[in-house]
Amino acid sequence: MQSAPFQSNAEIIHREDLRTSGTYTKRGIAIVRGFGATLWDADGKRYIDCVGGQGSANLGHAHPAVVAAIQHQATQLISCPEIFHNDQRAAYLDALGAAMPAGMGRVFLCNSGTEAVESALKFARLATGRPNIIAMMRGFHGRTMGALSATYEPKYREPFEPLIAGVSHVPYDRIEAVAAAITEQTAAVIVEPVQGEGGVRPASLGYLAAVAALCAQHGALLIVDEVQTGFGRTGSLFAITQAGVTPDLLVMAKSMAGGMPMGALAIHERLGGFAPASHGSTFGGNPLACAAARAALSAILTDDLSAAAARKGAALMQTLRAANLSKVREVRGAGLLIGLELKERVQPTLVALMERGVLALPAGPNVLRLLPPLVISDAELAEVVTVLRAVLA
Ligand SMILES: *Cc1c(COP(=O)(O)O)cnc(C)c1O
Repeated sequence: MQSAPFQSNAEIIHREDLRTSGTYTKRGIAIVRGFGATLWDADGKRYIDCVGGQGSANLGHAHPAVVAAIQHQATQLISCPEIFHNDQRAAYLDALGAAMPAGMGRVFLCNSGTEAVESALKFARLATGRPNIIAMMRGFHGRTMGALSATYEPKYREPFEPLIAGVSHVPYDRIEAVAAAITEQTAAVIVEPVQGEGGVRPASLGYLAAVAALCAQHGALLIVDEVQTGFGRTGSLFAITQAGVTPDLLVMAKSMAGGMPMGALAIHERLGGFAPASHGSTFGGNPLACAAARAALSAILTDDLSAAAARKGAALMQTLRAANLSKVREVRGAGLLIGLELKERVQPTLVALMERGVLALPAGPNVLRLLPPLVISDAELAEVVTVLRAVLA
């Protein structure tokens, strides 16, 4: 066994900063251990985790079923490209197929959200023979060139232009904007059921169904990006089922494999699958990720974490609204994807929360985003509320 190489926050931070890429603004603590919704730094300080691995830790940290699946599979087989069949992959595709919205047929497995989005964009052009993609203002779909083209935030996109051609952005949650933009050259419309990075904005009732209808009418595909909303986060396994919509292409990742890197594109059965050799991934569908993902999916379903997210999220939002916090303009969200729009910039609040043992995220310059593991206890949520009251009153 390799022993822990460095012992304190200060030592770890120093060593890491000598080589780290520079792209991340770090928080100045070294997280070394977690269980459930609790994290510990290298100096032994405890935190309640409302970052949730940026959405990859719906099941909490060190979930026993995921740990056991990884430990066992590591002794059997870790890598196995899809030129071979594999028992773990077959079992996971079975389980995922049974859990997805009805009609979702084939699944392309990959390793991250942005790759899953790339797969969807490529599939849409391949299946329709059309070039154009309609994406949403404030939408977030990842950082590789194709997905980045669909991501809205100009400061993420502009330094890397020219990106892929044919992508336009329209205002989110405004059906008339999609109606005005969609043409017979539109391959796909890509949309999040709740915008996560873009400020925690749920689509209003009827919007997603109306987008689906416009896509059907014009022969364009509807790509639903559930990378952040998937796997129970918003109160159902996938948020899109709450809108009564079946996507043409469903994109998932983050909490798919209990925290292990994994992503997927699910393709509606009427569209068939990819043409032979038209796409691929070396690590995609590897047995270790598939074993972790099957354990994760089974735990989410068995423990009904979707219902837990709905109950805990509704209670938390109600408590926060009733608290009438003076720095908060609005509390909004779905399930345990919760945004507090502040009347000021969010950064100082993130620091104050961390000092008091609560880790949280921004979603744009003035929105505080809470993305706790769905297994967070009521006692931990009460502690989060106490700290939020102290910091935001
Ligand atoms: C995080 C996210 C992505 C990108 O996922 P990565 O695994 O970071 O590449 C794409 N879409 C949405 C909605 C996300 O929240």
